[in-house]
Amino acid sequence: MNSVGIIRCNSYDEKEVEEAFNRASAPFDRERIKGKKVAVYFDFPSPDTAILKEVIDFLKENGAKEIKVGASLFTTGLPKNIDNLLKKENVQFVDFRNSSYERLDVPRRNAKMPNHFRGYALLSPVKYAEQRKIDKLGVKAKRVLKYSFLPTTLTDADYIVPVIKMKDSPVTKIGGVIASTLSLVPTMTRNQVFINKFKFQFWDALLEIYTPIKDKILFGVIDGVNAIISNDADINRMNVILFSEDPLALDSVTSVLIGYRSREVGSNKKGDDMGLGSGLFIHVAMYGDNFLEFRKEAKKYLRYRTDKAIRKVIPSINSVDDSIIDRVSNFCPTGAIVKENGNYKIDRMKCISCFFCVQLAPDIFKIK
Ligand code: SF4
Repeated sequence: MNSVGIIRCNSYDEKEVEEAFNRASAPFDRERIKGKKVAVYFDFPSPDTAILKEVIDFLKENGAKEIKVGASLFTTGLPKNIDNLLKKENVQFVDFRNSSYERLDVPRRNAKMPNHFRGYALLSPVKYAEQRKIDKLGVKAKRVLKYSFLPTTLTDADYIVPVIKMKDSPVTKIGGVIASTLSLVPTMTRNQVFINKFKFQFWDALLEIYTPIKDKILFGVIDGVNAIISNDADINRMNVILFSEDPLALDSVTSVLIGYRSREVGSNKKGDDMGLGSGLFIHVAMYGDNFLEFRKEAKKYLRYRTDKAIRKVIPSINSVDDSIIDRVSNFCPTGAIVKENGNYKIDRMKCISCFFCVQLAPDIFKIK
């Protein structure tokens, strides 16, 4: 059973973030950092600079030999505030898209029988026997992706630290740490992952990108002080920082916090079955502040309530640079970026709020 620190943090005030982070990381063995090369990465929308700063300072204070920060920048540059922070901290930034990638063989999936099937041995011997037959065929051990590519900044590092904004995306169900690995791979690999969506193997492909970096994850941090779940500022105020050495456990807690059941998120359930971490909420131990208190506060927007406050969040287009919008529209998985009477707009009916367009061109596509 892996643990997650859930700590209240009401603002991005440096002092408050520092205190919250210290509490969150209290059980972590800081000796592991000494003399190591650590690569921090984030995806888009990016976490707040106060959280990134705290992670960098924590790594420095505990003797990291080298710290690099990376992300995949698409058509626009690094957000100014992050650029300024990294310069001040004297930390090198790596744009993964302009760096080298290492080709990695995708490991065979662990054919371990999921825990719940063990119960069938008692409850339904026939079902159990069927499952055993499937196991013997080795179907579960097949690969979905032939191989994957990851930035050498990550493969060269001793450890990897994802720092991810708490967000919810209907494509991946939850924009957690496992989903953030999509931002690490080159476009071709990402397309292959999405093709697997149509074969109902999206989660398998996502976990196959994650598996090679799993053992390198030192810890992960979720910035939920201001989450990105709604276009309502009140709803986004989650006032929480999550910390764990197990990314699946982080995703599991995040999913429940924002209104899903942890097993509803495919990567949680499959990852847990495959022994990649504590993807199911019942397998996670928590420390820090009271989870139920946070959930109670979040109740007004939990998905299970038919709350009129929940509105579909779609990006807006804030520029007239047609050439960039045109390029980005090729990446929109549903063709929701359309041109009408010479102007680009987002078709609300088609948009599935995956926010790829925001990742690709954050200066142009904005989440209000
Ligand atoms: S416009 Fe397309 S890319 Fe952007 S959020 Fe909607 S579906 Fe995703």
